[in-house]
Amino acid sequence: MHFSKEDCLKFVEENDVRFIRLQFTDIFGRMKNIAITDKQLSNAFENGIMFDGSSVAGFAGVEASDMLLFPNPETFTVMPWRPQQGKVARIICDIKKHDGTQFEGDPRYILKRTLQKAEQLGYVFQVGPECEFFLFHTDDEGRPTTITHDTASYCDLAPIDLGENARREMCLTLEEMGFEIEASHHESATGQHEIDFRYTDALTAADNIMTFKLVVKIMAQHNGLHATFMPKPLPGVSGSGMHINMSLTQDGINLFDKDKEEDQSDISDTAKQFAAGLLKHIKGITAIANPLVNSYKRLTPGFEAPVHIAWAPMNRSPLLRVPTPRGEGTRLELRSPDPTCNPYLTLALLLEAGLEGLNKGLKLPKPVNVNIYNLSPQQEKRLKIDRLPSNLFVALEEMKKDQLIRSTVGDHIFNKYYSAKMSEWEDYDNAIHPWEINKYLKSF
Ligand code: GLN
Ligand code: MG
Ligand code: MG
Ligand code: MG
Repeated sequence: MHFSKEDCLKFVEENDVRFIRLQFTDIFGRMKNIAITDKQLSNAFENGIMFDGSSVAGFAGVEASDMLLFPNPETFTVMPWRPQQGKVARIICDIKKHDGTQFEGDPRYILKRTLQKAEQLGYVFQVGPECEFFLFHTDDEGRPTTITHDTASYCDLAPIDLGENARREMCLTLEEMGFEIEASHHESATGQHEIDFRYTDALTAADNIMTFKLVVKIMAQHNGLHATFMPKPLPGVSGSGMHINMSLTQDGINLFDKDKEEDQSDISDTAKQFAAGLLKHIKGITAIANPLVNSYKRLTPGFEAPVHIAWAPMNRSPLLRVPTPRGEGTRLELRSPDPTCNPYLTLALLLEAGLEGLNKGLKLPKPVNVNIYNLSPQQEKRLKIDRLPSNLFVALEEMKKDQLIRSTVGDHIFNKYYSAKMSEWEDYDNAIHPWEINKYLKSF
């Protein structure tokens, strides 16, 4: 379904749609929405719907707070879990300032701007995300706990319980909303799951990630569970990542594929330069791709999450992997991002970094084919293998040093994001954690 304005209005009229949720995403990756009735939709397309930008964190000050939402008709879809009489649909919006000019704090606009650059070069950025999440029980008052709903592990058949039903409903609902679900399975940790949907162009992928997270949370709730994308909710077991599979196509041809008989396993120079760009900028990008204090508790050795800045054809311990498929399926898999990141900003930055790699013909270092977690500090040094930032503070410092990040996300988002995240870090740093009380209160 790729609706025009007229298609939307006709569908609403003929299918008893009574409410339309106008959705957008704030700079911290949280979905927001305003509901309008069917009667307002035509007005929304023509004149936009006003909202108070000063009440959305990171958007505007009170002095310029009136902002407008302009719906993108091609994102129209019915929310299948809402009542079927008097249906509810959603449309993802662009954000304009009150004078009708573009609001530079709209993350979706940032991605569109970068995509336009790629488009001028004839490239389409294709993205396939793999989102992981946990399902937890709720307590008697309905509050989330950290008690998982099962004790299963990777690809286990979940017991016939709340979790299996929830995952089934998630997949079916997503399909009804136009997703092509490729696979879903139990992940390594107890109560942990993954649902993968087919790759698309990057803008659709970012919209899909936002919709996906909403659907997972709602379907979990319908099944009496709490779904969380928090990267590391439980110590000692795997956390939840969001691997990003990427390729560039031109006239339908995958530019990452190496069209040579001699070496089927190799990837193209374009792919290598793109990868080199990613490796060059990943430290600063980490502040956006891994946005929470908790994100860095996932990036520790031994849980299939990356710690080192390296690549390999197959190995699952480094940051960047080249999965086995070749031909149309040739892609790079970046393993550091987690599902709490803002997908619009993250994808914009990955593309900009990759394009710089192509532009400057950057050289990719040698692959690392050993289990990188087992390297000693001396070996790391000898092999010149650097590490990802170890916490949010270090990542923010890296972000500040990297001009590509500021120029991609623009001054507005850069400044608001940096200062909000720095104060989030300070809050955490000033807190006295239960671990400290346990460890020190009695002993000293
Ligand atoms: N959960 C792992 C992570 O944190 C990934 C595991 C996997 O998909 N192989 O990224
Ligand atoms: Mg996977
Ligand atoms: Mg996985
Ligand atoms: Mg993967």
